Amino acid sequence: MSTLFKRTKILATVGPSVFAEEKLKEMVYAGVNGFRLNFSHGTYDERDEQIKIIRKYAAERGKSVAIVQDLQGPKIRLGELKGNHLDLKAGDEIVLDYAIKEHDGSKKMPVQYNLAEKAKVGEPIFLFDGKIRTTVKEIVSKTAIKCTVENDGYVMSRKGVNLPDTDLGGDIFTEKDLADIEFGASRDFDYVAMSFVQSAADIEKMRSILTSHGSKAKIIAKIETKKAVETDESLEAIVKATDGIMIARGDMAIEAGAEVVPIVQRKLIAFCRQYSKICIVATQMMASMVENPEPTRAEVSDVATAVILGADAVMLSDETANGKYPIDTIKEMKKVILYTQNHTQIQALNTLPTGSYKNYDAISHAAVEIAHAVKADVIVAATKSGATAAAIAAQRPNMPIVSITSEPRVAGQLALTYANSAFVREYDENYAFDAVQDLKQSGYLKTPEGKDTLKVVLVSGLRDEEGGTNSIQIRKI
Ligand code: PGA
Ligand code: MN
Repeated sequence: MSTLFKRTKILATVGPSVFAEEKLKEMVYAGVNGFRLNFSHGTYDERDEQIKIIRKYAAERGKSVAIVQDLQGPKIRLGELKGNHLDLKAGDEIVLDYAIKEHDGSKKMPVQYNLAEKAKVGEPIFLFDGKIRTTVKEIVSKTAIKCTVENDGYVMSRKGVNLPDTDLGGDIFTEKDLADIEFGASRDFDYVAMSFVQSAADIEKMRSILTSHGSKAKIIAKIETKKAVETDESLEAIVKATDGIMIARGDMAIEAGAEVVPIVQRKLIAFCRQYSKICIVATQMMASMVENPEPTRAEVSDVATAVILGADAVMLSDETANGKYPIDTIKEMKKVILYTQNHTQIQALNTLPTGSYKNYDAISHAAVEIAHAVKADVIVAATKSGATAAAIAAQRPNMPIVSITSEPRVAGQLALTYANSAFVREYDENYAFDAVQDLKQSGYLKTPEGKDTLKVVLVSGLRDEEGGTNSIQIRKI
C-alpha cells in the first residue's frame, strides 16, 4: 500500500494552460497536492473562480489540497519599451527612470519601481533575468539612475530587474502586496508565499499583517535573494521564523549565482527538517516539458534528488502554467517521486528536533521508530493544529501518515507536508481510530497483499491540553 502514496508532494502553478475547469479537475486527479495562484498576474474574480473549482474537485476526489497565494513582492520590472525590444552593447550607458511614461526608443527606459531611492553607486543591477549585467554609475535624479552595461545583448518590455546587493531596508511589501494580502485574508487560502524575503524580520512583519486581518494562513518564505542565502545563520533564522520555505531557484540563481543553488537547497532542506517546517523545491524541475512531452534525464534526476534529500514538496511553475503538456508533466513527476521513494530510504536525521521542543516532538520521534520496527503499514496522527503531524513528518518515515483533524484549514495545510494525507472529522475521543476504519472500509487504505488487517501506529492525546499528544498505540484494523 505504501508504495502507491507519494510522500513527496506536488505543488503546481495555475496559469493559462490550465484555466479551463476540466484542466483543474485533471490536475487534482493526476496527483496535485497544492495549487499556487501567482499574484503577479490575474484578477481577483479569476482567483475566486479558481479557488471554487479547485475545492470542488478536491472534495469530489476526497482529498485535501493546499491553495497557496503567491505574492509578487518587490519584483521589479522594466516598463513598456518602444518596439518591445532594445539592443544593448557592453559599455553603453542606460538610464532607468521611474518617471518615464512612454519610452522613445532611446537608452532611457521606464522601470516600474523607484530605484533611485534604494540603489547606490557601484551596485550591480541585472536586467532580463540576468541576461544583461550593469553597474550603477550615477543617481541622476529623484527617480532615475544611470548604469553602465557590461555585456552585449538585448532587453524586452516588462522583463525582470534584479538588485542582488541592494538593501531594500525591510521595505519588501509593495502597495499591491498589501492589497493582495487583504484580499487573501478573506478567501480560502492555506498559505501565503512571500517573494524576495531578505531576513527573518520580513517574516515577522508578514505575520503581524496577517494577524491584523484575522488570517489563519501559514507563511511560506521564498528564498531567492542574495541577502537571504549569504550565511547559514541567515538561512537558519529565516527557517525558524517561518512556517515553510520555497527554494526559489530561479531568482536565487540570478541574484546569488547558479552555482550556490544546490548547496543552499541541501542546507535549507536540512534546516526545515530540523525545525519541522515545510520545504518546497521550486523552478525548472521539469522545464523542458513546457515544450516537450518528456523530461530530460537531468530533470528526472533533479526531482529524484529532492525526494532523496527529503523535501516536503516539489513545484511546477511554467510547466503547468504555460506549458503544452501540463497534465503529462504532473504524471511524469509523480512517476519519478514514486519510483525514487520506493527504491531508496531518506537518510534519518539522527537528532531530535530543535527549537521550542515539545512533548509531541518526543512522541513523534518515538512513534516513527516504533512504526519502522514493527513494519507498520501507516502512521495515524490525531492532530488539532497540525503540529503533531508535522513533527512525525519531520522524521521522514518511509510510510504514509494519515492525519485526522477537526480543522479544514489544518487539513489543507498538511496537504503539502511530507507523507501526509489529512482528513477532516468532527472531534470525539476515538475520531482518529474511527476515521482510519472508515478509510479502510472505503478502500482508500488497502491491506498489504496476503493480509486482511492493517498495522497502524496511532499517535493521539488529550485534546484540550496544549501540546496534549501523549500516547502511541500499535493497533490492527
Ligand atoms: P517566482 O519564484 O516563480 O515567483 O519568481 C520562484 C523562483 O524565483 O524560482
Ligand atoms: Mn522568484
